[in-house]
Amino acid sequence: MAVELGRRAGIDLARLRTQLFIGGEWVDAVDAATIDVVDPHDGSLLARVAEAREADVDRAVDAAGRAFPAWAATSAAERGRVLLRLADAIEANAGELARLESLDTGHPLRDSTRLDVPRTAATFRYFGGIADKHEGSVIPVERGFLNYVDREPIGVVGQIVPWNFPLMFTSWKLGPALAAGNTVVMKPSELTPLSTLRIAELLTEVGLPAGVVNIVPGYGATAGWRLATHPRVQKLSFTGSTAVGRRLVEASAGNLKRLQMELGGKGANIVFDDADLELAVNGSAFAIFHNQGQACIAGSRLLLHERIAGAFLDDFLALAGGIRLGDPLDTASEMGPLTSATHRDRVLEYVAVARDQGGEILCGGAPPDDPSLSGGYYVRPTVVRAGPEDRVSREEVFGPFVAVTTFRDEDEALRIANGTDYGLGSGLWTRDLSRAHRVARGLGAGMVWVNSYKRVSPGSPFGGVAGSGYGREMGFEAMHEYTSAKSVWINVDADLPAWYPRHGQG
Ligand code: NAD
Repeated sequence: MAVELGRRAGIDLARLRTQLFIGGEWVDAVDAATIDVVDPHDGSLLARVAEAREADVDRAVDAAGRAFPAWAATSAAERGRVLLRLADAIEANAGELARLESLDTGHPLRDSTRLDVPRTAATFRYFGGIADKHEGSVIPVERGFLNYVDREPIGVVGQIVPWNFPLMFTSWKLGPALAAGNTVVMKPSELTPLSTLRIAELLTEVGLPAGVVNIVPGYGATAGWRLATHPRVQKLSFTGSTAVGRRLVEASAGNLKRLQMELGGKGANIVFDDADLELAVNGSAFAIFHNQGQACIAGSRLLLHERIAGAFLDDFLALAGGIRLGDPLDTASEMGPLTSATHRDRVLEYVAVARDQGGEILCGGAPPDDPSLSGGYYVRPTVVRAGPEDRVSREEVFGPFVAVTTFRDEDEALRIANGTDYGLGSGLWTRDLSRAHRVARGLGAGMVWVNSYKRVSPGSPFGGVAGSGYGREMGFEAMHEYTSAKSVWINVDADLPAWYPRHGQG
Protein backbone atom coordinates (compact mmCIF):
# COMPACT_ATOMS: atom_id res chain seq x y z
CA MET A 1 0.00 0.00 0.00
CA ALA A 2 1.42 3.39 -0.97
CA VAL A 3 1.85 5.80 1.92
CA GLU A 4 2.07 9.58 1.84
CA LEU A 5 5.22 10.76 3.55
CA GLY A 6 5.97 14.43 3.74
CA ARG A 7 8.93 16.41 5.01
CA ARG A 8 9.95 16.20 8.64
CA ALA A 9 12.80 18.11 10.23
CA GLY A 10 13.90 19.25 6.78
CA ILE A 11 14.10 15.65 5.55
CA ASP A 12 12.01 14.53 2.61
CA LEU A 13 10.83 11.18 3.97
CA ALA A 14 9.59 10.02 0.58
CA ARG A 15 13.16 10.22 -0.76
CA LEU A 16 14.85 8.19 1.98
CA ARG A 17 16.56 5.02 0.86
CA THR A 18 14.35 2.21 2.14
CA GLN A 19 15.41 -0.83 0.11
CA LEU A 20 18.00 -3.43 1.01
CA PHE A 21 21.59 -2.58 0.06
CA ILE A 22 23.08 -5.71 -1.50
CA GLY A 23 26.01 -6.00 -3.88
CA GLY A 24 26.14 -2.21 -4.29
CA GLU A 25 22.51 -2.02 -5.43
CA TRP A 26 19.27 -1.00 -3.81
CA VAL A 27 16.87 -3.92 -4.08
CA ASP A 28 13.47 -4.98 -2.73
CA ALA A 29 13.20 -7.97 -0.43
CA VAL A 30 12.65 -11.23 -2.31
CA ASP A 31 9.11 -11.52 -1.00
CA ALA A 32 8.53 -7.73 -0.98
CA ALA A 33 8.09 -7.68 2.82
CA THR A 34 8.41 -4.32 4.58
CA ILE A 35 8.79 -2.93 8.10
CA ASP A 36 7.04 0.21 9.32
CA VAL A 37 9.53 2.52 11.01
CA VAL A 38 7.85 5.00 13.36
CA ASP A 39 8.72 8.26 15.07
CA PRO A 40 8.88 7.57 18.84
CA HIS A 41 7.83 11.16 19.53
CA ASP A 42 4.30 10.59 18.23
CA GLY A 43 4.07 7.09 16.77
CA SER A 44 3.65 8.39 13.20
CA LEU A 45 5.05 6.53 10.22
CA LEU A 46 8.52 7.68 9.10
CA ALA A 47 9.32 5.09 6.46
CA ARG A 48 8.40 1.69 5.15
CA VAL A 49 11.67 -0.18 4.88
CA ALA A 50 12.30 -3.43 2.99
CA GLU A 51 12.40 -6.34 5.41
CA ALA A 52 15.18 -8.83 4.76
CA ARG A 53 14.36 -12.45 5.39
CA GLU A 54 16.48 -15.56 5.06
CA ALA A 55 16.72 -15.52 1.25
CA ASP A 56 17.80 -11.86 1.31
CA VAL A 57 20.49 -12.53 3.91
CA ASP A 58 21.74 -15.35 1.68
CA ARG A 59 21.96 -12.94 -1.26
CA ALA A 60 23.87 -10.45 0.89
CA VAL A 61 26.31 -13.11 2.12
CA ASP A 62 26.90 -14.19 -1.49
CA ALA A 63 27.62 -10.59 -2.47
CA ALA A 64 30.00 -10.12 0.46
CA GLY A 65 31.73 -13.40 -0.42
CA ARG A 66 32.25 -12.30 -4.03
CA ALA A 67 33.64 -8.94 -2.94
CA PHE A 68 36.03 -10.36 -0.34
CA PRO A 69 39.07 -11.40 -2.41
CA ALA A 70 39.46 -8.01 -4.11
CA TRP A 71 38.84 -6.00 -0.93
CA ALA A 72 41.25 -8.12 1.09
CA ALA A 73 43.86 -7.58 -1.65
CA THR A 74 43.28 -3.81 -1.74
CA SER A 75 46.15 -2.02 -0.03
CA ALA A 76 45.53 -1.13 3.60
CA ALA A 77 46.23 2.51 2.76
CA GLU A 78 43.50 2.54 0.12
CA ARG A 79 41.00 0.85 2.44
CA GLY A 80 41.84 3.52 4.98
CA ARG A 81 41.33 6.30 2.42
CA VAL A 82 37.75 5.12 1.79
CA LEU A 83 37.01 5.38 5.52
CA LEU A 84 38.64 8.80 5.74
CA ARG A 85 36.48 10.02 2.86
CA LEU A 86 33.44 8.57 4.60
CA ALA A 87 34.30 10.51 7.78
CA ASP A 88 34.45 13.69 5.69
CA ALA A 89 31.12 12.86 4.03
CA ILE A 90 29.50 12.33 7.42
CA GLU A 91 30.71 15.72 8.56
CA ALA A 92 29.48 17.31 5.34
CA ASN A 93 26.03 15.82 6.02
CA ALA A 94 26.16 16.18 9.80
CA GLY A 95 22.99 18.22 10.26
CA GLU A 96 20.86 15.89 8.20
CA LEU A 97 22.29 12.75 9.86
CA ALA A 98 21.65 14.18 13.32
CA ARG A 99 18.04 15.00 12.45
CA LEU A 100 17.50 11.59 10.89
CA GLU A 101 18.92 9.84 13.96
CA SER A 102 16.77 11.93 16.29
CA LEU A 103 13.63 11.24 14.25
CA ASP A 104 14.27 7.51 14.19
CA THR A 105 15.53 6.91 17.75
CA GLY A 106 14.20 9.79 19.86
CA HIS A 107 17.69 11.01 20.82
CA PRO A 108 17.47 14.72 21.62
CA LEU A 109 18.87 16.65 18.68
CA ARG A 110 21.39 18.39 20.91
CA ASP A 111 22.83 14.94 21.76
CA SER A 112 22.82 13.52 18.24
CA THR A 113 24.43 16.76 17.03
CA ARG A 114 27.11 16.92 19.74
CA LEU A 115 27.74 13.22 20.36
CA ASP A 116 26.35 10.67 17.92
CA VAL A 117 27.36 12.29 14.63
CA PRO A 118 30.81 13.61 15.64
CA ARG A 119 31.64 10.31 17.34
CA THR A 120 30.58 8.41 14.23
CA ALA A 121 32.83 10.53 12.02
CA ALA A 122 35.67 10.28 14.54
CA THR A 123 35.42 6.49 14.66
CA PHE A 124 35.53 6.10 10.89
CA ARG A 125 38.46 8.53 10.78
CA TYR A 126 40.32 6.63 13.49
CA PHE A 127 39.94 3.33 11.63
CA GLY A 128 40.78 5.02 8.34
CA GLY A 129 44.03 6.07 9.98
CA ILE A 130 44.79 2.75 11.65
CA ALA A 131 44.25 0.65 8.51
CA ASP A 132 47.91 0.83 7.39
CA LYS A 133 49.36 0.94 10.89
CA HIS A 134 48.12 -2.38 12.15
CA GLU A 135 51.38 -4.24 11.82
CA GLY A 136 52.30 -7.87 12.11
CA SER A 137 55.35 -8.91 14.10
CA VAL A 138 58.60 -10.83 13.94
CA ILE A 139 59.11 -13.43 16.65
CA PRO A 140 62.62 -14.08 18.01
CA VAL A 141 62.89 -17.82 17.29
CA GLU A 142 65.98 -20.04 17.02
CA ARG A 143 68.84 -19.04 14.78
CA GLY A 144 68.49 -19.86 11.10
CA PHE A 145 64.76 -19.14 10.94
CA LEU A 146 62.66 -16.10 10.31
CA ASN A 147 59.21 -16.30 11.87
CA TYR A 148 56.79 -13.53 11.12
CA VAL A 149 53.15 -13.09 12.03
CA ASP A 150 50.84 -11.58 9.50
CA ARG A 151 47.35 -10.35 10.41
CA GLU A 152 44.89 -11.51 7.79
CA PRO A 153 41.25 -10.50 7.34
CA ILE A 154 38.79 -13.18 8.39
CA GLY A 155 36.36 -13.10 5.45
CA VAL A 156 32.63 -12.37 5.48
CA VAL A 157 31.62 -10.82 8.77
CA GLY A 158 28.04 -10.65 10.07
CA GLN A 159 27.20 -7.68 12.26
CA ILE A 160 24.00 -7.33 14.29
CA VAL A 161 23.23 -3.93 15.77
CA PRO A 162 20.67 -2.84 18.39
CA TRP A 163 18.46 0.23 18.32
CA ASN A 164 19.96 2.39 21.03
CA PHE A 165 22.86 4.02 19.11
CA PRO A 166 22.34 2.82 15.53
CA LEU A 167 24.49 5.41 13.77
CA MET A 168 27.41 5.27 16.18
CA PHE A 169 27.43 1.47 16.34
CA THR A 170 27.49 1.31 12.56
CA SER A 171 30.88 3.05 12.74
CA TRP A 172 32.14 0.96 15.67
CA LYS A 173 31.47 -2.19 13.67
CA LEU A 174 32.16 -1.20 10.07
CA GLY A 175 35.30 0.82 10.87
CA PRO A 176 37.59 -1.99 12.06
CA ALA A 177 36.00 -4.69 9.88
CA LEU A 178 36.65 -2.72 6.69
CA ALA A 179 40.04 -1.36 7.73
CA ALA A 180 41.19 -4.94 8.30
CA GLY A 181 40.00 -6.07 4.85
CA ASN A 182 36.81 -7.99 5.65
CA THR A 183 33.51 -7.69 3.84
CA VAL A 184 30.32 -7.21 5.82
CA VAL A 185 26.65 -8.05 6.03
CA MET A 186 25.10 -5.78 8.64
CA LYS A 187 21.65 -6.18 10.12
CA PRO A 188 20.46 -3.00 11.78
CA SER A 189 17.66 -3.20 14.32
CA GLU A 190 14.20 -3.48 12.81
CA LEU A 191 13.27 -0.39 14.86
CA THR A 192 16.01 2.02 13.71
CA PRO A 193 17.48 1.24 10.28
CA LEU A 194 17.36 4.72 8.71
CA SER A 195 20.76 6.19 9.55
CA THR A 196 22.55 2.95 8.63
CA LEU A 197 20.88 2.98 5.21
CA ARG A 198 22.03 6.58 4.79
CA ILE A 199 25.60 5.49 5.61
CA ALA A 200 25.31 2.87 2.85
CA GLU A 201 24.46 5.67 0.44
CA LEU A 202 27.46 7.70 1.58
CA LEU A 203 29.72 4.65 1.26
CA THR A 204 28.76 4.38 -2.38
CA GLU A 205 29.46 8.09 -2.88
CA VAL A 206 32.96 7.79 -1.40
CA GLY A 207 33.84 4.88 -3.66
CA LEU A 208 33.47 1.71 -1.61
CA PRO A 209 33.42 -1.18 -4.10
CA ALA A 210 30.11 -3.01 -4.56
CA GLY A 211 29.42 -5.86 -2.15
CA VAL A 212 32.00 -4.85 0.47
CA VAL A 213 29.18 -3.66 2.73
CA ASN A 214 25.64 -5.01 2.55
CA ILE A 215 22.82 -3.71 4.74
CA VAL A 216 19.80 -5.89 5.46
CA PRO A 217 17.29 -4.47 7.94
CA GLY A 218 15.10 -7.23 9.34
CA TYR A 219 13.84 -8.94 12.45
CA GLY A 220 16.09 -10.88 14.79
CA ALA A 221 14.29 -14.20 14.59
CA THR A 222 14.50 -14.33 10.79
CA ALA A 223 17.24 -12.17 9.24
CA GLY A 224 19.34 -12.00 12.42
CA TRP A 225 19.19 -15.71 13.05
CA ARG A 226 20.03 -16.54 9.44
CA LEU A 227 23.07 -14.26 9.57
CA ALA A 228 24.19 -15.72 12.90
CA THR A 229 23.92 -19.32 11.69
CA HIS A 230 25.04 -18.82 8.10
CA PRO A 231 27.74 -21.36 7.19
CA ARG A 232 29.68 -18.86 5.05
CA VAL A 233 29.77 -16.08 7.64
CA GLN A 234 33.14 -16.51 9.32
CA LYS A 235 32.70 -14.07 12.17
CA LEU A 236 29.74 -12.58 13.99
CA SER A 237 29.90 -9.31 15.88
CA PHE A 238 26.75 -8.96 17.96
CA THR A 239 25.62 -6.08 20.12
CA GLY A 240 22.41 -6.72 22.00
CA SER A 241 20.88 -8.42 24.98
CA THR A 242 22.60 -11.14 26.97
CA ALA A 243 19.65 -13.51 26.41
CA VAL A 244 19.97 -13.34 22.61
CA GLY A 245 23.78 -13.37 22.84
CA ARG A 246 23.69 -16.72 24.67
CA ARG A 247 21.59 -18.27 21.90
CA LEU A 248 23.95 -16.96 19.25
CA VAL A 249 26.95 -18.47 21.01
CA GLU A 250 25.26 -21.89 20.83
CA ALA A 251 24.28 -21.30 17.21
CA SER A 252 27.86 -20.45 16.24
CA ALA A 253 28.95 -24.07 16.67
CA GLY A 254 27.81 -24.95 13.13
CA ASN A 255 30.86 -23.50 11.37
CA LEU A 256 32.79 -22.47 14.52
CA LYS A 257 32.31 -18.80 13.77
CA ARG A 258 34.48 -16.34 15.59
CA LEU A 259 32.34 -14.30 17.94
CA GLN A 260 32.37 -10.88 19.46
CA MET A 261 29.62 -10.44 22.03
CA GLU A 262 28.77 -6.95 23.29
CA LEU A 263 25.91 -7.67 25.66
CA GLY A 264 23.94 -6.08 28.49
CA GLY A 265 25.12 -4.20 31.53
CA LYS A 266 24.08 -3.04 34.97
CA GLY A 267 26.70 -0.41 35.72
CA ALA A 268 27.53 0.35 39.34
CA ASN A 269 28.15 4.03 39.97
CA ILE A 270 29.77 4.38 43.42
CA VAL A 271 29.92 7.69 45.26
CA PHE A 272 32.31 7.75 48.22
CA ASP A 273 31.98 10.19 51.10
CA ASP A 274 35.06 12.15 50.02
CA ALA A 275 33.75 12.78 46.50
CA ASP A 276 33.25 16.19 44.92
CA LEU A 277 29.49 16.01 45.31
CA GLU A 278 28.57 18.55 42.68
CA LEU A 279 30.69 16.75 40.10
CA ALA A 280 29.29 13.38 41.21
CA VAL A 281 25.66 14.54 41.08
CA ASN A 282 26.02 15.97 37.57
CA GLY A 283 28.07 13.05 36.30
CA SER A 284 25.66 10.52 37.76
CA ALA A 285 22.74 12.19 35.98
CA PHE A 286 24.61 11.92 32.68
CA ALA A 287 25.47 8.30 33.53
CA ILE A 288 21.83 7.25 33.72
CA PHE A 289 19.69 9.80 31.88
CA HIS A 290 21.69 10.41 28.71
CA ASN A 291 19.86 8.75 25.81
CA GLN A 292 16.95 8.10 28.20
CA GLY A 293 19.09 5.51 29.94
CA GLN A 294 19.10 3.31 26.85
CA ALA A 295 22.78 2.56 27.06
CA CYS A 296 24.50 -0.70 27.88
CA ILE A 297 27.04 1.29 29.92
CA ALA A 298 24.42 3.35 31.77
CA GLY A 299 25.18 3.88 35.46
CA SER A 300 21.90 2.24 36.42
CA ARG A 301 22.88 1.36 40.01
CA LEU A 302 23.77 4.26 42.24
CA LEU A 303 25.72 3.19 45.32
CA LEU A 304 25.96 6.01 47.85
CA HIS A 305 28.09 6.11 50.97
CA GLU A 306 25.63 6.36 53.85
CA ARG A 307 27.24 9.58 55.14
CA ILE A 308 26.58 11.57 51.96
CA ALA A 309 23.47 9.75 50.68
CA GLY A 310 21.02 12.37 51.98
CA ALA A 311 22.90 15.39 50.65
CA PHE A 312 23.58 13.66 47.33
CA LEU A 313 19.96 12.66 46.83
CA ASP A 314 18.62 16.15 47.62
CA ASP A 315 20.60 17.54 44.69
CA PHE A 316 20.24 14.52 42.43
CA LEU A 317 16.45 14.38 42.76
CA ALA A 318 16.18 18.12 42.14
CA LEU A 319 18.28 17.72 39.00
CA ALA A 320 16.35 14.65 37.78
CA GLY A 321 12.98 16.30 38.40
CA GLY A 322 14.04 19.36 36.42
CA ILE A 323 15.19 17.60 33.24
CA ARG A 324 13.22 18.95 30.27
CA LEU A 325 11.42 16.19 28.35
CA GLY A 326 10.25 17.08 24.90
CA ASP A 327 10.23 16.62 21.16
CA PRO A 328 13.75 15.40 20.29
CA LEU A 329 13.90 17.88 17.42
CA ASP A 330 13.44 20.82 19.78
CA THR A 331 16.96 21.85 20.75
CA ALA A 332 15.68 22.81 24.21
CA SER A 333 14.71 19.18 24.96
CA GLU A 334 17.10 17.41 27.32
CA MET A 335 15.41 14.01 27.18
CA GLY A 336 13.38 12.46 24.40
CA PRO A 337 11.08 9.45 24.23
CA LEU A 338 12.17 5.85 24.55
CA THR A 339 12.70 4.28 21.17
CA SER A 340 9.62 2.02 21.08
CA ALA A 341 6.25 1.65 22.76
CA THR A 342 7.11 -1.93 23.75
CA HIS A 343 10.23 -0.75 25.47
CA ARG A 344 8.40 2.10 27.25
CA ASP A 345 5.94 -0.48 28.60
CA ARG A 346 8.79 -2.70 29.74
CA VAL A 347 10.44 0.16 31.65
CA LEU A 348 7.15 1.06 33.33
CA GLU A 349 6.66 -2.59 34.31
CA TYR A 350 9.90 -2.34 36.26
CA VAL A 351 8.36 0.49 38.30
CA ALA A 352 5.69 -1.99 39.38
CA VAL A 353 8.35 -4.64 40.04
CA ALA A 354 10.25 -2.20 42.26
CA ARG A 355 7.10 -1.35 44.24
CA ASP A 356 6.20 -5.03 44.66
CA GLN A 357 9.58 -5.69 46.23
CA GLY A 358 9.26 -2.77 48.63
CA GLY A 359 11.19 -0.22 46.56
CA GLU A 360 10.48 3.46 47.13
CA ILE A 361 9.91 5.61 44.03
CA LEU A 362 11.79 8.81 44.85
CA CYS A 363 10.93 10.52 41.57
CA GLY A 364 9.37 9.78 38.19
CA GLY A 365 8.03 6.29 37.63
CA ALA A 366 5.43 7.39 35.07
CA PRO A 367 4.99 9.12 31.73
CA PRO A 368 5.05 12.94 31.84
CA ASP A 369 1.80 14.85 32.43
CA ASP A 370 2.38 17.18 29.44
CA PRO A 371 -0.50 16.38 27.00
CA SER A 372 1.68 17.36 24.02
CA LEU A 373 3.84 14.30 24.75
CA SER A 374 1.00 11.83 25.29
CA GLY A 375 1.34 10.26 21.82
CA GLY A 376 5.02 9.45 22.36
CA TYR A 377 6.95 6.87 24.36
CA TYR A 378 8.12 9.16 27.16
CA VAL A 379 9.04 8.15 30.71
CA ARG A 380 10.08 10.64 33.37
CA PRO A 381 13.52 10.33 34.94
CA THR A 382 12.98 7.70 37.60
CA VAL A 383 14.91 7.20 40.84
CA VAL A 384 14.07 4.21 43.02
CA ARG A 385 15.45 3.26 46.41
CA ALA A 386 15.90 -0.51 46.33
CA GLY A 387 17.86 -3.28 48.02
CA PRO A 388 20.90 -4.69 46.21
CA GLU A 389 19.15 -8.06 45.86
CA ASP A 390 15.93 -6.60 44.39
CA ARG A 391 15.23 -7.33 40.75
CA VAL A 392 15.60 -3.68 39.73
CA SER A 393 19.11 -3.74 41.17
CA ARG A 394 20.07 -6.89 39.28
CA GLU A 395 18.21 -6.84 35.95
CA GLU A 396 18.87 -4.46 33.11
CA VAL A 397 15.97 -1.99 32.82
CA PHE A 398 17.57 -0.02 29.97
CA GLY A 399 15.63 3.15 30.61
CA PRO A 400 15.80 6.41 32.58
CA PHE A 401 15.61 4.36 35.76
CA VAL A 402 18.24 4.24 38.48
CA ALA A 403 18.20 1.99 41.55
CA VAL A 404 19.78 3.63 44.61
CA THR A 405 21.27 1.85 47.58
CA THR A 406 23.70 2.79 50.35
CA PHE A 407 26.92 1.24 51.66
CA ARG A 408 29.08 1.61 54.77
CA ASP A 409 32.61 0.96 53.52
CA GLU A 410 34.73 0.14 50.50
CA ASP A 411 34.40 -3.63 50.90
CA GLU A 412 30.64 -3.45 51.00
CA ALA A 413 30.59 -1.12 47.98
CA LEU A 414 32.67 -3.59 45.97
CA ARG A 415 30.58 -6.53 47.10
CA ILE A 416 27.37 -4.83 45.94
CA ALA A 417 28.97 -3.52 42.74
CA ASN A 418 30.21 -6.99 41.78
CA GLY A 419 26.99 -8.68 42.82
CA THR A 420 25.27 -8.94 39.43
CA ASP A 421 25.78 -11.26 36.46
CA TYR A 422 27.04 -8.34 34.35
CA GLY A 423 30.46 -6.75 34.01
CA LEU A 424 30.47 -3.97 31.41
CA GLY A 425 31.18 -0.48 32.79
CA SER A 426 31.31 0.91 36.32
CA GLY A 427 32.36 4.19 37.89
CA LEU A 428 33.45 5.71 41.16
CA TRP A 429 33.73 9.17 42.61
CA THR A 430 36.42 9.92 45.18
CA ARG A 431 39.25 12.37 45.87
CA ASP A 432 41.45 9.60 47.30
CA LEU A 433 43.92 8.51 44.63
CA SER A 434 44.82 5.21 46.28
CA ARG A 435 41.17 4.30 46.69
CA ALA A 436 40.50 5.18 43.05
CA HIS A 437 43.10 2.67 41.84
CA ARG A 438 42.19 0.06 44.44
CA VAL A 439 38.49 0.11 43.66
CA ALA A 440 39.12 0.27 39.89
CA ARG A 441 41.17 -2.90 40.27
CA GLY A 442 38.48 -4.56 42.37
CA LEU A 443 35.58 -3.87 40.02
CA GLY A 444 34.54 -6.78 37.77
CA ALA A 445 34.07 -4.71 34.64
CA GLY A 446 35.56 -4.18 31.20
CA MET A 447 35.61 -0.39 31.70
CA VAL A 448 35.95 1.82 34.79
CA TRP A 449 35.53 5.57 35.02
CA VAL A 450 36.92 7.58 37.91
CA ASN A 451 35.28 10.94 38.63
CA SER A 452 33.48 10.70 35.30
CA TYR A 453 31.19 8.25 33.57
CA LYS A 454 30.53 6.76 30.14
CA ARG A 455 33.64 8.15 28.45
CA VAL A 456 34.38 6.41 25.15
CA SER A 457 36.99 7.01 22.49
CA PRO A 458 37.76 5.25 19.20
CA GLY A 459 41.20 4.34 20.54
CA SER A 460 40.12 2.88 23.87
CA PRO A 461 38.95 -0.75 24.13
CA PHE A 462 35.23 -1.10 24.74
CA GLY A 463 33.60 -4.28 26.00
CA GLY A 464 32.70 -6.39 28.97
CA VAL A 465 33.37 -9.44 31.07
CA ALA A 466 31.08 -12.15 32.48
CA GLY A 467 27.42 -11.75 31.39
CA SER A 468 28.32 -8.61 29.44
CA GLY A 469 30.10 -10.72 26.85
CA TYR A 470 33.57 -10.81 25.37
CA GLY A 471 35.63 -9.24 22.64
CA ARG A 472 36.46 -5.56 22.31
CA GLU A 473 35.34 -2.80 20.00
CA MET A 474 37.67 0.15 19.26
CA GLY A 475 41.39 0.61 19.06
CA PHE A 476 44.01 -1.95 18.08
CA GLU A 477 42.02 -4.49 20.09
CA ALA A 478 39.25 -4.24 17.50
CA MET A 479 41.74 -4.74 14.67
CA HIS A 480 42.79 -7.97 16.37
CA GLU A 481 39.14 -9.01 16.63
CA TYR A 482 38.77 -8.63 12.87
CA THR A 483 41.97 -10.42 11.84
CA SER A 484 43.55 -13.83 12.26
CA ALA A 485 47.23 -14.31 13.04
CA LYS A 486 49.17 -16.27 10.45
CA SER A 487 52.56 -17.48 11.60
CA VAL A 488 55.02 -17.96 8.72
CA TRP A 489 58.34 -19.84 9.18
CA ILE A 490 61.19 -19.26 6.72
CA ASN A 491 64.26 -21.41 6.80
CA VAL A 492 66.95 -18.83 6.14
CA ASP A 493 70.08 -20.93 6.62
CA ALA A 494 69.23 -23.62 9.14
CA ASP A 495 70.00 -27.26 8.66
CA LEU A 496 67.82 -30.12 9.89
CA PRO A 497 68.86 -31.47 13.28
CA ALA A 498 71.90 -33.70 12.93
CA TRP A 499 70.19 -36.58 14.74
CA TYR A 500 67.21 -36.67 12.34
CA PRO A 501 67.20 -39.45 9.70
CA ARG A 502 67.90 -38.03 6.24
CA HIS A 503 67.89 -39.21 2.69
CA GLY A 504 70.98 -39.15 0.49
CA GLN A 505 73.65 -39.67 3.13
CA GLY A 506 76.09 -42.30 1.95
P1 NAD B 1 18.19 -7.52 21.32
O1 NAD B 1 19.13 -8.56 21.76
O2 NAD B 1 16.73 -7.80 21.41
O3 NAD B 1 18.45 -7.14 19.79
C1 NAD B 1 19.71 -6.73 19.33
C2 NAD B 1 19.81 -7.05 17.87
O4 NAD B 1 19.75 -8.47 17.74
C3 NAD B 1 18.68 -6.50 17.00
O5 NAD B 1 19.19 -6.15 15.73
C4 NAD B 1 17.74 -7.69 16.88
O6 NAD B 1 16.96 -7.67 15.71
C5 NAD B 1 18.72 -8.85 16.86
N1 NAD B 1 18.16 -10.11 17.32
C6 NAD B 1 17.15 -10.32 18.21
N2 NAD B 1 16.89 -11.65 18.33
C7 NAD B 1 17.77 -12.28 17.51
C8 NAD B 1 17.99 -13.65 17.19
N3 NAD B 1 17.28 -14.64 17.75
N4 NAD B 1 18.97 -13.94 16.30
C9 NAD B 1 19.72 -12.98 15.76
N5 NAD B 1 19.54 -11.67 16.00
C10 NAD B 1 18.58 -11.32 16.87
O7 NAD B 1 18.59 -6.21 22.09
P2 NAD B 1 17.96 -4.76 21.95
O8 NAD B 1 16.76 -4.72 22.82
O9 NAD B 1 17.81 -4.39 20.51
O10 NAD B 1 19.15 -3.85 22.52
C11 NAD B 1 19.31 -3.62 23.85
C12 NAD B 1 20.32 -4.57 24.46
O11 NAD B 1 21.59 -4.37 23.80
C13 NAD B 1 20.57 -4.27 25.90
O12 NAD B 1 20.70 -5.48 26.61
C14 NAD B 1 21.90 -3.54 25.90
O13 NAD B 1 22.63 -3.59 27.08
C15 NAD B 1 22.60 -4.23 24.78
N6 NAD B 1 23.70 -3.38 24.30
C16 NAD B 1 24.99 -3.78 24.54
C17 NAD B 1 26.05 -2.96 24.13
C18 NAD B 1 27.49 -3.34 24.37
O14 NAD B 1 28.36 -2.82 23.68
N7 NAD B 1 27.80 -4.23 25.30
C19 NAD B 1 25.79 -1.76 23.49
C20 NAD B 1 24.46 -1.39 23.29
C21 NAD B 1 23.42 -2.22 23.68
